[in-house]
Amino acid sequence: MTSTHRDQIHRDRDRPDWASDPAARRGQAVRAAVVHGLIRPEEPVVGLLDVTGIRQYATALITAFSEVTAPGTPQLHAFAVKACPLVPVLRLLAAEGLGCEVASPGELALARAAGVPAERTVFDSPAKTQAELREATGLGVAVHADNPQELARLDELVGSARGSAPAPLGLRVNPQVGGGAIDALSTATATSKFGVALRDEGAREWIVRACLDRPWLTRLHAHTGSQGLPLELMAAGVRETYELAQEINAAAGRRQIDTLDIGGGLPVSFATDEPPAFGPYARLLRTTVPGLVDGRYGLVTEFGRSLLAKNGLVLARVEYAKSAGGRAIAVTHAGAQLATRTVFTPGAWPIRVAAYDAEGRPKRGPAVAQDIAGPCCFAGDLVAENRELPLLEAGDLAALLDTGAYYFTNHFAYNSLPRPAVYGFLPDPAAPGGVRFALVRRLQTVDEIVAESGGAERDALIG
Ligand SMILES: *Cc1c(COP(=O)(O)O)cnc(C)c1O
Repeated sequence: MTSTHRDQIHRDRDRPDWASDPAARRGQAVRAAVVHGLIRPEEPVVGLLDVTGIRQYATALITAFSEVTAPGTPQLHAFAVKACPLVPVLRLLAAEGLGCEVASPGELALARAAGVPAERTVFDSPAKTQAELREATGLGVAVHADNPQELARLDELVGSARGSAPAPLGLRVNPQVGGGAIDALSTATATSKFGVALRDEGAREWIVRACLDRPWLTRLHAHTGSQGLPLELMAAGVRETYELAQEINAAAGRRQIDTLDIGGGLPVSFATDEPPAFGPYARLLRTTVPGLVDGRYGLVTEFGRSLLAKNGLVLARVEYAKSAGGRAIAVTHAGAQLATRTVFTPGAWPIRVAAYDAEGRPKRGPAVAQDIAGPCCFAGDLVAENRELPLLEAGDLAALLDTGAYYFTNHFAYNSLPRPAVYGFLPDPAAPGGVRFALVRRLQTVDEIVAESGGAERDALIG
């Protein structure tokens, strides 16, 4: 091989194929984050979002469902805002054709700030107040009642609108098809707190009657669970919901239920770069519930984690490298404040950690079992325990992979640590390191922390 040829190969390796290689995008973004000074001693932790990957996943979702549904089937893919409650992300997803699923006034406000129209928003929450129901339906946002008491509140709203629904209204059911690997995220167990429990004694008859009495109830909603559910179980939950809709419509003698919201919950791999199975899940739904996709029903989905998790990472400086009892410990700036689930339930939420040197280059060297610790003041604040990695040293960088959903965007205010800055990254041959960064959320300031912690009420307890 000539040296020119070797140089060419080298350059090609340095210039990744952005479209097809998420690991290469990530590597280049980490290196560029150092070059751009986004991560430095004074700002030792940042969140990074892969804009290319987010767009690709949004397209993959829309394509997967349009390939299995009859032409003309109305469909809304409402991104579950809780997975990544950042206005620029919601706006990016909206530009790619998605809507929003919200579960609190805050999430509704984020969707509105992102410019997501009411008719592309759905509101689910098990604890909606009367005022929240009034606000959401007044805007025209679809609402799913969780239980009989909430349905009575919708009765009042419809009554004061002279019997017509102010917005698309539906009922959430718990298909009770069983749980997955993670109890806390399994929403279709016998005793889950969400929706009307479909298999409880008398529940099915009650739901059918409730719908016949309320011609304005036009939707059914079920979300079987999040992460840890087999696709077959998710599809079984959807089938139960579909069969209930068929029963209601048969009893009504018309297509009263016209839209089925099948929730989210598509699992992601936290062990590899393999993308989520949008296509296989959509095809499984077609074989398990053919009537769902034949054009009879409008379709709403609410995917969260699967769209964002693999398109984000945390980059944290190693402040100190030490050892205790023979164990190497890298003390970093990423702990429970942004990897809350992993720290508190490490068995359910293991994440990949990648080691980089201070320049953002992949760290080489023999693998050494070490703890990757965070900055919080409790012993369990570890994002990885006894993990084999090239030995991290002070000034190196640890990257927590697959953390674009439910991690740095879902801050836990322990130790009054600030919410880190978040940047989106995109290829740009003209930019240093070949990467352009867009600020998505700036670093929370210490003044803001004081203000949010009763700073203005300083003398409240000593007066
Ligand atoms: C959390 C949630 C979702 C999103 O779940 P993912 O696992 O992130 O896809 C969708 N719908 C409802 C009702 C939820 O509570």
